[in-house]
Amino acid sequence: MCAKPVNPFVPEAELACQRDFCEQNRPLLRERFGETPRAYVQVFGCQQNVSDGQHIEGLLAQMGFSFAQSPGEADLVLLNTCAVREHAEDRAVGNTGALKSWRSARPGRILALCGCMVQQPHVAKRLKESFSYVDLVCGPQALYRLPQNLHRLLTEGGRVFDTAPEEGAVAEGLPVRRTGVKGWLPVMGGCNNFCSYCVVPLVRGRERSRSPEDIIAEARQMIAEGYHEITLLGQNVNSYGATLPEPCTFAELLRRLNDLPGDFILRFMTSHPKDCTSELLAAMRDCEKVAPHLHLPVQSGSNRILKAMNRRYTREDYLALVQKAKETVPGLCLTSDIIVGFPGEQYEDFCDTLSLVEQVGYSALYTFLFSPRRGTPAEKMPDPVPMEEKKRWFNELLALQERLAAPQTAAYAGRRLRVLCEGVRPTGLCFGRTPGNVLAEFTAPADSVGRFVEIEVTETLSFMLKGRAVS
Ligand code: SAH
Ligand code: SF4
Repeated sequence: MCAKPVNPFVPEAELACQRDFCEQNRPLLRERFGETPRAYVQVFGCQQNVSDGQHIEGLLAQMGFSFAQSPGEADLVLLNTCAVREHAEDRAVGNTGALKSWRSARPGRILALCGCMVQQPHVAKRLKESFSYVDLVCGPQALYRLPQNLHRLLTEGGRVFDTAPEEGAVAEGLPVRRTGVKGWLPVMGGCNNFCSYCVVPLVRGRERSRSPEDIIAEARQMIAEGYHEITLLGQNVNSYGATLPEPCTFAELLRRLNDLPGDFILRFMTSHPKDCTSELLAAMRDCEKVAPHLHLPVQSGSNRILKAMNRRYTREDYLALVQKAKETVPGLCLTSDIIVGFPGEQYEDFCDTLSLVEQVGYSALYTFLFSPRRGTPAEKMPDPVPMEEKKRWFNELLALQERLAAPQTAAYAGRRLRVLCEGVRPTGLCFGRTPGNVLAEFTAPADSVGRFVEIEVTETLSFMLKGRAVS
């Protein structure tokens, strides 16, 4: 019989040890930078990285850092990098290069790199050999050890690299410095799916879940702090709980969070179609705080390509799931990720994607050109289609989505919707997202930021609504 995989947690003693390092770093940092050491943290990539960035800032604040608006005012700059596509990596490498003169302009300054990019062995090697001005490199699994790594740097000098391969473990109770209106709440880490194009399982380790009690306690805290929107994060939230000692499904977690008192909305991402259950759809239908929005990445509409991607569902499975989701959850908005130009994809495969997109009727699509990632199976697959051709397909998909989205947004004309105001544009218009996650810009008092506003939709564009506050 196969033993149930255990869900690893970082031992409390180890976390206490990191808290001690935070305290020990305080005087060392003051000695080096004066009374108010300042940090600047820049995040690349996905919401998980944004959330990690907030934990990094929490740890830095615990060491006595305050936060600068730009590298120029900072003593420590930390880039939290992304590796999911080459473009994200190029940006992080470019920004690192641009910080060379910043680093040498004042002695003692510290340049640190964290995130998925640095967890790749070839990148760590390159940083060691060719970026001598990078002081500290710490992969995503080692994030909770940032205090210890910084302590080593401050006491021993030289350079610190903490990027050895790790399976990863849940580190509970890390401090967090949340900013903004949207509250990010990771429910799990890592990924076991090994889609053939994706670097995430290689850099973020094996899937592990936080306990429902810890998640619920954190959600309570966020609600008490005034967050009206909480997005639950995981690479595949639908397999949440699979490795927990006490079983709990994602649907159960949603129901328990929905029962918390307070005026808030729950969102979640990402859902892998192969694990999207009827139980989850029923929870979405029943829980009034759960937004009627399902981000369900399909990646391709061709069975041949889905197989090569190791997605473990067929086009038919996906379409059946979409139909069930639409039937179960009234007013459901669907969004998706699509990769164009996967190795071996032919125009007929791409046409299957076009027809699937047409059949589903997504409210928004996130489209990506295939980007070969080191160490993934797809990197080695023959890829004969020229980039110009892939770009033509890509534009064809964008044009189709624009055509399909327009009537969907048009259907909102005149409707009243409750929208959380996320901020104010330079034009003075407020912005936010509808429950179904459609972007809306609207006139409202400037003090609406962070509050729910009832808006009436006065105009619809292909990807966006315009409106005015009516409350
Ligand atoms: N765990 C999530 C998010 C993964 S990364 C999920 O499974 O959906 C977000 C998106 O980036 C993916 O859905 C995929 O569409 C895209 N992506 C990942 N690797 C890629 C690659 N090598 N090239 C192009 N797009 C990629
Ligand atoms: Fe990558 Fe697939 Fe895991 Fe998403 S589910 S992170 S695409 S391997």
